[in-house]
Amino acid sequence: MCGIVGYVGPQQAAPVLVEGLTRLEYRGYDSAGIAVLNPRSSAHPSRVVRAKGRVRDLEAALPARLAGTVGIGHTRWATHGEPSERNAHPHTSFDGRVHVVHNGIIDNFHALRSRLAADGVELTSDTDTEVVAHLVARELAAGLGFEDAVRAAVTSIDGTYALAVADVQNPDRVVVARNGSPLLLGVGDGEMFVASDAAAIVRHTSQVVLLDDGDFASVTADGFRTFTADEEHTARSAVTIDLTVEELELGGHAHFMHKEIHEQPESVERMLSGRLDDRFGTAKLDGLNLDPRELRRFSRVKILGCGSAYYVGQLGASMIEDLARVPADAEPASEFRYRNPIIEPSTLYVVVSQSGETADTLFAVREVQRKGGTVVGLVNAVGSSIAREVDGGIYLHAGPEVAVASTKALTHMSVGFALLALALGRVRDLSFADGKRIIAGLRAIPEQIAQVLAGEEDLASAAKELAEAPSLFFIGRVRGYPVAREGAQKFKEITYRHAEAYPTSELKHGPLALISPELPTVAIMPADDLLERNITAAQEIRARGGAVVAITHPGVELGDAATRRIEVPRNEVELDPILLTIPTQLLGYHAAVALGEDVDRPRNLAKSVTVE
Ligand code: GLU
Repeated sequence: MCGIVGYVGPQQAAPVLVEGLTRLEYRGYDSAGIAVLNPRSSAHPSRVVRAKGRVRDLEAALPARLAGTVGIGHTRWATHGEPSERNAHPHTSFDGRVHVVHNGIIDNFHALRSRLAADGVELTSDTDTEVVAHLVARELAAGLGFEDAVRAAVTSIDGTYALAVADVQNPDRVVVARNGSPLLLGVGDGEMFVASDAAAIVRHTSQVVLLDDGDFASVTADGFRTFTADEEHTARSAVTIDLTVEELELGGHAHFMHKEIHEQPESVERMLSGRLDDRFGTAKLDGLNLDPRELRRFSRVKILGCGSAYYVGQLGASMIEDLARVPADAEPASEFRYRNPIIEPSTLYVVVSQSGETADTLFAVREVQRKGGTVVGLVNAVGSSIAREVDGGIYLHAGPEVAVASTKALTHMSVGFALLALALGRVRDLSFADGKRIIAGLRAIPEQIAQVLAGEEDLASAAKELAEAPSLFFIGRVRGYPVAREGAQKFKEITYRHAEAYPTSELKHGPLALISPELPTVAIMPADDLLERNITAAQEIRARGGAVVAITHPGVELGDAATRRIEVPRNEVELDPILLTIPTQLLGYHAAVALGEDVDRPRNLAKSVTVE
């Protein structure tokens, strides 16, 4: 995944690059580095500084003076080669002339490395990326101009990439290329920026040019020129992005995850505004690009997402089945493409991704489209690759999400599914009265989330207890099962404690064997028609000495089936899971804080998984 930045202009590049990398750190934080060009220095026409660890480690490694107004930078999430200084980007060519930063994977790097090694080129890292620097340098040495050298080098690469390349002998520009990894240009006044996403440059400009796969750009202080492998010039224009620096600051919270959890009441309210149609008891989803007749045509819905987005997809499938009575299921997008899926014209494919750049999900979109299917997206990042490639969709309007562990965007996804289920239902058999019932339920959600958040202190104390256990279960049934899965996922990704989700009904078929006083269970126990069964299961756990933290509704009698109860307000049964998920966010968060973990940057992970 990793983050890329570039700068060409009148300012000193190093501080601009480092600030940009700090904003992109959620994309990767194994190591970081920058290269700065300084044509005035004959001794050091370029300088590269790299450090293992965080951007702050890079900052500490920077010399007091690092002059130069053109540069590139990178924060890495290693795919090839351990996180170390020698594997950190930028990578430099054998002759010291070319510096490269890269996001993605060069699939044929083995062959390219062997070919370069056979020609006597000494390889100094274990990465797939390094070959690109050497290939560009060879083209330059053969007499090609900078842009043509990058173009020629890229023709021998198979794989995915966002590349930013600097050449010591062309110190007025950065050349970039994109194929399968996000990349944009920022247009300033007499200065230009390159970035993996707009967060890196929002302090400087709101004018961005979104590059497409196959695009190259030559970026100078006064502008840019785009081209492709076959065309000398292509037209790409700037759009204005809606993002402020404040949205990317902590704003008094200890962590972004905490901030984002607390933003939910307001952000969901914003998401719903203008989308609820009281007159017809339905949802207004113009972005779907499907009129009611087309919506009726689908006899099945297949939802594709990765990680937590897949769990939300399971929730979405049950909302669609409940409200629209259309068979629906969810599948990990990462598996879908590889099983030669049968694409039916009568199935509506729905992909879910916060960043809109999740490589596995993007490839699933292409698989569906290549086989003639219709695919719509639930995406947060406006203008992202998935948002641009799908046939239609619902923007989540969650605002930026910086914490690697997603909370706010997931809630928006589940609200997005409720809207989709409502729209699908209302072109079928869902009555006007039921449509109005769901609309009222959706309207209540922001205030009800705020009520759950008001119980944070109690949740923090429950979390502290759970943090002491080396392992725990999350259980739930039917609509509660995806809630349990997401709860377990959140818990393990930020606390590094083993947490496993089971359907409550499955406990007695095996996992009950693990129950002991050392293994607590978080049980999703809403006041629905499965409550009695859920209480029985909780009692079976209690009888074996296991603690049960019940997430339940007011008025539910649990007796001694639970050691602790956490209440969330009741909504409509179809929408309850949205609220039942909120306490699991705070349980994970406070457990990780209690354990002293780096909540916003969990080990081995990064936010948008833009590599396969
Ligand atoms: N494949 C490159 C590396 O391992 C870049 C990885 C990335 O995109 O984060 O260094």
